Amino acid sequence: MAHNWQRSVLRLMRVTNHPVTVVEVHDPTPWYRRVVFHAPELAEGLEVFPTLWLRLWVPNPARGEGFLSQRGYTVVDVRPEAGIFALEFVLHDVAGPAGDWAKGLVPGVTAEVALTPAHIALPEWASRVLLAGDVTALPAINSWIDVIPDSIDVTVLVEEGHADRDRLPRHERTGRLGWQWVTPGPERGEALAEAVLTTGSEGTAGLYAWAAGERALVRHVRSALKNGLGLERSAQFSQNYWIEGRSSG
Ligand SMILES: Cc1cc2nc3c(=O)[nH]c(=O)nc-3n(C[C@H](O)[C@H](O)[C@H](O)COP(=O)(O)OP(=O)(O)OC[C@H]3O[C@@H](n4cnc5c(N)ncnc54)[C@H](O)[C@@H]3O)c2cc1C
Repeated sequence: MAHNWQRSVLRLMRVTNHPVTVVEVHDPTPWYRRVVFHAPELAEGLEVFPTLWLRLWVPNPARGEGFLSQRGYTVVDVRPEAGIFALEFVLHDVAGPAGDWAKGLVPGVTAEVALTPAHIALPEWASRVLLAGDVTALPAINSWIDVIPDSIDVTVLVEEGHADRDRLPRHERTGRLGWQWVTPGPERGEALAEAVLTTGSEGTAGLYAWAAGERALVRHVRSALKNGLGLERSAQFSQNYWIEGRSSG
């Protein structure tokens, strides 16, 4: 069996791995899969906050027999009483251990996950929230929509060009929610940055922005927020979720 230093390091850091079992698989579109996992020990004590994510250990046969790699996925729909939670996978065309593993899932398949301590909360002064990203950020965006108070207006911008994008899970709220699919242009993230500028053109007072997705896309959005809108660092958070052409390891 290939030596797995990542697992060893995390074990030394006392990061606990929790067993999970697939119980349901749903495909809102052929390229986006929602998987419900049974994990009573994990779901019961879980402190849920927006964008909560975990490290999923998946087989990586290219690295050796029995080798496991970790990939980040956002936790959605935690139901402690039923001992379940869900992850949503973009089933991307380029091969990758997590995407490939997710493509083959059926009820009964088991894996391990580890929680991450990253904690994020909305600043108290925020009166408008902008959530931007690509479709890997959709679960996190939905997790924000679930908790943002109704008094705060929310605008969602997701750069996604598939014709069946309207079938993807979109959470509702009673407060104001503007949702826009942004059709990608020739360069990833450029169209999204344009949409960010348009959204912010009414002024940035009380505006808090959160963005995630592919690295170049996030770079475009960050530049629009900082240079285009002049948004303070404290009024924005962004995270690279994946890098085009590069495996997460
Ligand atoms: C905090 C966090 C939360 C995340 N939440 C989610 C989530 O809820 N749902 C989700 O689907 N992803 C999520 N991601 C992104 C996911 O971890 C990456 O897409 C990851 O690279 C997938 O691993 P892989 O093994 O399939 O591909 P890798 O081995 O990492 O990459 C192999 C190849 O596939 C390409 N690739 C990877 N991801 C994509 C993609 N989405 N589209 C097109 N090409 C891709 C890479 O550029 C590379 O060329 C999250 C990432 C982070 C850091």
